[in-house]
Amino acid sequence: MEYSIGVDLGGTILRAAAIDHSGKILEKIASPTNSEQGREAVISAIAASVVELRETLKEGRLAGVGIGVPGFILLERGYIVGSNNLPMLENYPVRDEIEKLLGTPILLENDANAAALGEKWMGAGREVNDLVLLTLGTGIGGGIISGGRVLHGHVGMAGEVGHITVYANGNPCGCGNYGCLEKHASATAVESMAKLLNLGDNATAEDIFHLALDGNEKAKMIFTSMGRALGIALATLVNVFNFPLYLLSGGVLPAWEFFAPPMMKEIEARSFTFRNAATRVEKATLGNLAGLYGAAYLPFLAQRI
Ligand SMILES: [Zn+2]
Repeated sequence: MEYSIGVDLGGTILRAAAIDHSGKILEKIASPTNSEQGREAVISAIAASVVELRETLKEGRLAGVGIGVPGFILLERGYIVGSNNLPMLENYPVRDEIEKLLGTPILLENDANAAALGEKWMGAGREVNDLVLLTLGTGIGGGIISGGRVLHGHVGMAGEVGHITVYANGNPCGCGNYGCLEKHASATAVESMAKLLNLGDNATAEDIFHLALDGNEKAKMIFTSMGRALGIALATLVNVFNFPLYLLSGGVLPAWEFFAPPMMKEIEARSFTFRNAATRVEKATLGNLAGLYGAAYLPFLAQRI
């Protein structure tokens, strides 16, 4: 039996799973990322989780190891060049160092790209070969799957949908731009709007959702604003790609009933392609397992080249 190991490297939790060709999870483990202990500790934690799974699955043949990491990746060099969650891994040969420890080839992928690939393999995108996934969290990550594979662009930085400009003079973003989608539609953006509207300084996106459920007009307005920003970005994506499917995931999804109607209205109004081609905008289905599936799928995909 052949299996692959996928690793999802979060800022605080590292999850790893052994998955077979059919997408069945054979074994799944989680451990702390150990980021506060520095780079070596994180690299060791990744290696240790792979070793643990290999020992458990010793009867099987390992097809390879895929790792989803938060941040911009230079794919060919195996470097992470920018990561908000794990800055200690920046400008360091992450892939080569882990390969040295394990003696097995490693495939790195941006975590949002890995999640998009996971949804294509085993989630809401199983029936299509082309899709875009937007993950709405602290920021907004994105992954583009074209022809069944991740669209990487020139050096591996494609799919940064969170930094699409939705308002030319909008909120300033850490990337240097103004009005990035993630500054207007992420969970963090929802919380900032709540603060501005005096709904509480520490209200979470979930709190705002409950307020909206209770009929709070300000809370509903926040999700309308969020939905419009998403719709503006999605209309652009639909126009550019003409893909059949666009998926949304992340902790803000429960508020779908509030943000989706204004979102769909914007897409409809702004995209000729949307009005003339069957296009679905839906919820992703794998939740926080998407990245793990996608990372594990990387070695299987590599076998097919
Ligand atoms: Zn930005």
